[in-house]
Amino acid sequence: MFVCVLNSINQHNIVIMIEAPEALYIAEQMNQTIQGKRITFVTAGYTPHKFAWFYGNPENYGNMLTGKIFGITHAYGGLLETDIEDSRLLLGDGVNLRYFKPGDKIPDKHQLLIGFEDESFLTGSVRMYGGILCFPADSFECSFTPYRDSAKNKPQVMSDAFNLDYFLTLINSDEKQKKTAKAFLATEQTIPGLGNGVLQDILFNARLHPKTRINTLTDNQKENLFHCVKSTLKEIYQAGGRNSETDLFGKKGNYFPILSKDTCGKPCPVCGEAIRKENYMGGSIYYCFECQK
Ligand SMILES: [Zn+2]
Repeated sequence: MFVCVLNSINQHNIVIMIEAPEALYIAEQMNQTIQGKRITFVTAGYTPHKFAWFYGNPENYGNMLTGKIFGITHAYGGLLETDIEDSRLLLGDGVNLRYFKPGDKIPDKHQLLIGFEDESFLTGSVRMYGGILCFPADSFECSFTPYRDSAKNKPQVMSDAFNLDYFLTLINSDEKQKKTAKAFLATEQTIPGLGNGVLQDILFNARLHPKTRINTLTDNQKENLFHCVKSTLKEIYQAGGRNSETDLFGKKGNYFPILSKDTCGKPCPVCGEAIRKENYMGGSIYYCFECQK
């Protein structure tokens, strides 16, 4: 059920979730700020939310986590997963996380509240939809399992393991040849954590139209696309994420996308042509007609 809903929502390309650069940035903030703290209480599912998913009964989360040490957080694509001794806490890409200092006021609404022994606390709130999944480290069986496995086991797009050779095996595989650049990059979890949010600027930087067929690309264009994936994501990460997203402390990112609903109709920064929007694959694409042939 989870994956079905997820897929149908993803097809609408709702751009309100963190992607790989933000996940990495937030994971690092969590490791600097929360890692090593002992958990004193947990409340999950406090504010009802139709599209908040839990692993089993959220009332059990307290039993699973209380008294344990909040360990290292990993970014898997756009997902965040924390080791909490013999348990794991997996947060989907549609969950807003926020850290609060001792003495701060607890927000009225949340789907996850974790208190620590120094009286600081972490909240998670689901935006459109999102999973807050707590489970034993050695067993995770639900409809979200393939999604997590794929995000966790493939080379992370921002890591050195995601190199040109790996990218070329992806883009040169038979099944990808008839796909468009957008479909190749941002669907089917081909590159976990690369979604519609960061896609537009990658293609702009690569000077490729989103509808360009993969089998029409030259070797140089493929290599250039790889470098644009890397450099664009790095730039977003170094800016602390996109401006539409917030970090662990509620601060907006400093990356302002070149192509987005906010820049649609405005002049392209390179050629001055108005930035266009089109509906495509059940969602929106933005592009410059001059720069992205
Ligand atoms: Zn242009």
